Amino acid sequence: MEGMTALLREGMGAEEVFDVEYAVDVGGTKIAYAIIDGQHIVAEGSLATDGRPPEDRLPAVGEALKALAQDRGASPAALGLSLPGPIAHGVLLHAPNLHRAWVGRRIDEILRLLGLGVPGAAQRDALLGGLGEYVAGAGQGLDSFAYLTLGTGVGGGLILHGEPLLGTDGAAGEIGHLTVEPRGPLCGCGRRGCVESVASGTAIGKIYLAETGEEVPGSEIARRARGGDMVARRVFGRAGAALGTACAAWAQVANPQAVIAGGSLAQSLDLLLPSLERSLHRRAWSANLPLPIIPAKLGGPAPLVGAAYFARRHAR
Ligand SMILES: [Zn+2]
Repeated sequence: MEGMTALLREGMGAEEVFDVEYAVDVGGTKIAYAIIDGQHIVAEGSLATDGRPPEDRLPAVGEALKALAQDRGASPAALGLSLPGPIAHGVLLHAPNLHRAWVGRRIDEILRLLGLGVPGAAQRDALLGGLGEYVAGAGQGLDSFAYLTLGTGVGGGLILHGEPLLGTDGAAGEIGHLTVEPRGPLCGCGRRGCVESVASGTAIGKIYLAETGEEVPGSEIARRARGGDMVARRVFGRAGAALGTACAAWAQVANPQAVIAGGSLAQSLDLLLPSLERSLHRRAWSANLPLPIIPAKLGGPAPLVGAAYFARRHAR
């Protein structure tokens, strides 16, 4: 959580805290929470998600947030919630990494479980991560960009003119499940050859295992690729090509100024970029290029900062 530390504001006295929001980021492995003052994390913590239903986890998160606010003498005015799936019609529609009790739940009901008694708003993690970068990270000064998260999965969203693009069912810009290799590996969504099935950290590990018989973490495969291991280089090349196709789709549909890449695998962007750019330039029209691919700045805390910003504008 390097980015988190970088954002912590030093030496803040209790009486200095104004205009703050509560922020909660629910992920498959942990629930991160924080008190956010504009661009800064004033206080933060986290709790294991543990594959449990929301009523088993959120009341404790709410209590922890209240205690943090009291410690800092802060009175947050709103609550922003980031969830790992598309949200539309006031409902969380899909969330494959959470207990099934989260899915199909009304957002206002989920917000109420936190028991914070302030207006709230929720959105999908990739959109709020993008907003976080817009407010306080690599998106500062940009008007419209695509946000790519490369981790155990591949996620994405579009920030257009400073607003997240939602689409009819909240999944606009979600290129993780765009088909790039029709006969490619089976994806978690049940189809074949999605971007996620060749370009996620998980996929890179699986493909390397299938080709070498060795089960090694993504960071080690990256190290081997940099050291000249031809299989490792080919696996990253294939992932980059898939991501280039995804970026071309974004370029043609939304004509963003840049793609901001975050997530643990973005640390290996140097290995992905050569084939990504080749594939992007082969597929996108020159009128929609160049489309620079730039690394995210906030990293992990981006959805928290974005959730607070979103809540400030949309909480009801
Ligand atoms: Zn898929």
